[in-house]
Amino acid sequence: MIDLLIRQVNLPCGRRNVDIAIHEGRILEVGPNIKAEAHQVLSHPGCLVTPPFVDSHFHMDSTLSVGQPRLNDSGTLLEGISVWNELKPDLTVEAIKKRAIELCHWSIARGTLAIRSHVDVCDDRLLAVQALLEVRKEMQAFIDLQLVAFPQDGYYRSATGKQNLLRALDMGVDVVGGIPHFERTRASGDRSVTALCELAADRGLRVDMHCDENDDPLSQHIETLAYETHRLGMQGRVTGSHLTSMHSMDNFHASKLLPLIREAGVHVVANPLINITLQGRQDNYPKRRGMTRVKEMLNAGINVAFGHDCVMDPWYSMGSHDMLEVAHMGLHVGHMTGVDEMRQAFSAVTYNGAHALGLEGYGLNPGDNADLVILQASTPIDALRLRAARLEVIRRGKVLARTSASLPQLLITPAPTPVSFSRDLM
Ligand SMILES: [Zn+2]
Repeated sequence: MIDLLIRQVNLPCGRRNVDIAIHEGRILEVGPNIKAEAHQVLSHPGCLVTPPFVDSHFHMDSTLSVGQPRLNDSGTLLEGISVWNELKPDLTVEAIKKRAIELCHWSIARGTLAIRSHVDVCDDRLLAVQALLEVRKEMQAFIDLQLVAFPQDGYYRSATGKQNLLRALDMGVDVVGGIPHFERTRASGDRSVTALCELAADRGLRVDMHCDENDDPLSQHIETLAYETHRLGMQGRVTGSHLTSMHSMDNFHASKLLPLIREAGVHVVANPLINITLQGRQDNYPKRRGMTRVKEMLNAGINVAFGHDCVMDPWYSMGSHDMLEVAHMGLHVGHMTGVDEMRQAFSAVTYNGAHALGLEGYGLNPGDNADLVILQASTPIDALRLRAARLEVIRRGKVLARTSASLPQLLITPAPTPVSFSRDLM
């Protein structure tokens, strides 16, 4: 007698009408017509099952704080940083935890079971670090949280950025962060990249930097990040987040950088909702989109994931932590409407994110963790088009969240058949 059997579902790889057998928190078997007795059977014929969504870039310390102490009137990145700095003195561990746990509940309901969150270490009290370490522990049965020590005000530029980042790592933060384009000079930005990569190499940690998050084609710290990753033998353990300057960069220089990023195995995280709203702000017309060169990176063999970045915080008032919304926006901003490109947009919030975070046991093969989401859609493209309902969210074989299928009925006569928006496209 096995724990759970899921009947007649489709998989992102294109397999159709298969069953999934689950026992003791792991996937036992995937195939047609599995003959097994199960304690629980879930039947969603023709629906897509995917491994959970992964948010590769988020800020859980500031989430759900919108309006505190005031709204961001201009909606710009720099005013967002000012509002956050006004809020920081009034932060408490309890308030940060309450908001972060509520966000985790939103995430789980939407099928996201892993989040990498940056945590600002430029407040000497490190309240946000303490709060999010507690949230990571309290929520670990339900969601994987990875924390990045993020010197928001600069590793060198802020008086205590360097020592606070070390303290945060000593407290148990997982990943080394950075913000080279915000240091005082280009040279000190590059020096921060070198120092932070060496620190991570010494401690055996991963790196994830906010890197070149601006419209300045001369902001090129990604070159140093790829160089240091290669020099220190950290291939596959380093992420460049945002890289929006590459949107504006000289094409020749971008064509030099892509193979270097690929060679160093640096993962890239784009944040489409935030990049499209915060970049290009000083442009008249035409306005740049600002998101990095996602399509070209994927074609160059670079692992690209999408992050949500912000939900209802000083930088972004919108959002409900829905990674399908993120992928939907990424597809549009990146001109990714080719059939394979649409599938890649889905991977950017699932498999590619898991790869960037180094998650173990992620996937739909026998032996993988029984973490999966059943969607009210037949294919990944259909799921993106509809931002489909997450019918069941399952972790280690247990259902954590359930959403009813949405089935509108037209009240016109003569009565039509019930409306289903689901359509197969490949
Ligand atoms: Zn960020």
